[in-house]
Amino acid sequence: MSESTKPQKHEFQTEVRVLLQLMIHSLYSNQEIFIRELISNGADALDKVRFEGITKPELLDGDSDLRIDLHVDEEARKIVISDNGIGMNEEDLLNGLGTIARSGTRDFMKNLTGDSKDDMSLIGQFGVGFYSVFMVARNVEVLTRKAGEEKAYLWSSTGDGEFQLSESSKDSRGTIITIELKDDEDATPFASEWKVKEVVNKYSEFIAHPIWMTVLPKPEKDDDGELKPSEEKEAARLNEKTAIWRRPAKDVTDENHKEFYQQISNDFAGEPLTHTMQHIEGMQEFWSLVYVPTKAPFGLFNQDRGHGLKLYVKRIFIMDDCKDLLPTWLRFVSGVVDSEDLPLNVSREILQDNRIIASIRKHVVKKTLASLQKMADDKPEQYTGFWKEMGVVLKEGFYMNYEWLDELKSLMRFNSTSSGTDEVISLKDYVSGMKDDQEVIYYITGENLKTLTSSPLLENFRAKGYEVLYMADHVDEFMMGGLTEFDGKQFKDISRGDVELEKTDEEKKVEEEQQTSYQKLCESLQNTLNETVETVRVTSRLKDSPCVLVNKEDAMSAHMERLMKQMGQDNMPTSKRILEINPEHTICQTLQSKAEAGDELGDWPTVLLGQALLAEGSPLPDTNAYVQAVNKLLS
Ligand code: ADP
Repeated sequence: MSESTKPQKHEFQTEVRVLLQLMIHSLYSNQEIFIRELISNGADALDKVRFEGITKPELLDGDSDLRIDLHVDEEARKIVISDNGIGMNEEDLLNGLGTIARSGTRDFMKNLTGDSKDDMSLIGQFGVGFYSVFMVARNVEVLTRKAGEEKAYLWSSTGDGEFQLSESSKDSRGTIITIELKDDEDATPFASEWKVKEVVNKYSEFIAHPIWMTVLPKPEKDDDGELKPSEEKEAARLNEKTAIWRRPAKDVTDENHKEFYQQISNDFAGEPLTHTMQHIEGMQEFWSLVYVPTKAPFGLFNQDRGHGLKLYVKRIFIMDDCKDLLPTWLRFVSGVVDSEDLPLNVSREILQDNRIIASIRKHVVKKTLASLQKMADDKPEQYTGFWKEMGVVLKEGFYMNYEWLDELKSLMRFNSTSSGTDEVISLKDYVSGMKDDQEVIYYITGENLKTLTSSPLLENFRAKGYEVLYMADHVDEFMMGGLTEFDGKQFKDISRGDVELEKTDEEKKVEEEQQTSYQKLCESLQNTLNETVETVRVTSRLKDSPCVLVNKEDAMSAHMERLMKQMGQDNMPTSKRILEINPEHTICQTLQSKAEAGDELGDWPTVLLGQALLAEGSPLPDTNAYVQAVNKLLS
């Protein structure tokens, strides 16, 4: 056993100081979460030593009875939480309890606004770890010894700018945290065995390791049948023995699910929208418990955000964020898989091409998609809520992916010319509303719903009552690379090539005449706009606008070109477009007379092209030239 050394003072990192200030001064509600945070740290430490002990049994040193112990000294106002987990050495203490290590804390700090009210509500959304103890503690001591090492350390702090660190002694591995409660009213409830027990029951029921607490046992009857109050405290187990995901589904309450979901997703203010539980036996055996959240998880589109499920093997925690268990397009879910068949020493590399993992993944995806489909069928309003939050991620399932396409198609929802921008419809709804002569599913892509709803390309569709799907999410263009057909019907981008809507004989006749009578104007516009425009032609698709730009059938859409440019593909060749003019529009009629008479068109071609570009949300190649041209015409 080593001698204790003189404590050395260390300053907390700046961010920790800010966080501590916030904890201590602004946070008056929900102090109890410190118990949850410390127990979850203890459980992590137990997971780690159990996992490392698989390959290095000497770390366990004969003590594999892993547990967390709690003790409340009501009189001295102290709480002691200990674990025989991995423990910490000097470096771990400096890193873990002096700087911000936890991703939740980092996200939390990044999102602080400086407005204490907003910031306080943020605290609820993130797990804020060890430091939350200073909401109630006036002094905290951490005595710890790392598994496999001799030296023990004592860390202590009062939660103001500094902490002390010294070498100390401890008989066995693990960590003992002693919390001295403040004198104020907010901390007082925690100087009670009953209260601490209540909080543990609330938050830590599903912790996979046993949590014990020294409590007075229930009074027992003595020989004379009299109730004899107990004097000696005894350790009692507070949590269930079976991991929540291994319990029969009927034994797990909604409240259990909510708490477990919050714990594993770090979404402490949220609730699961739905969950699926599976126990598969046969060729292989595993349990899974998967939650779909109500709100999109924080940082859903952040590339660095971990995703996947927690992987356990025979109840032993193996890793967080096991990506091989889920496709990226289901990254909004959180949950647990516990396999009986994988070897305990699995590594991320082994998992990648593992047959067992592939099979579990199939089951998990199938069940998750089925539960979403059930929600879509039975509770369409709830599903619409889900779709608005997370549908855009499901859409990613269509690129670079050839699995689950039918299930995904059935889950897709869209705004459309008929449903409007508030309601969404399914592809099945669309097909059942198709007109008799209609063979394809029409859609239009663009930056946002507002630009789309006012697109000139829709004029004739509206007039003739054909429904067009709006695709304004940034992933839609990519999605359409994989979503090519539904129920035998192809998809058709209405900004590409020609779109034939049903025409009467009369309409056909008029159109033919117009093609000939407008030839001069088309040629003239074509000559001036040669650089950008491949062809100019008369169209019947417009009602109120003078002209519109469309793409050749095989060209990339204008929206896709803009997206590629935003993604840094600047040198991509821009394909020439087709300018279609509306023979019924007075501007075109006036211009046609000019062209016929051999007059110059002046600034008109620039203005027409500019308007067509603006209407579809494209930038103008030369804004100045456009403004000047408009001004000249106006004056
Ligand atoms: P988090 O647990 O999310 O990482 P905390 O602030 O709660 O964040 O803890 C910081 C770090 O301190 C942990 O990551 C862990 O390395 C270490 N730590 C905290 N409590 C314990 C413990 N009981 N046993 C071992 N290490 C611990």
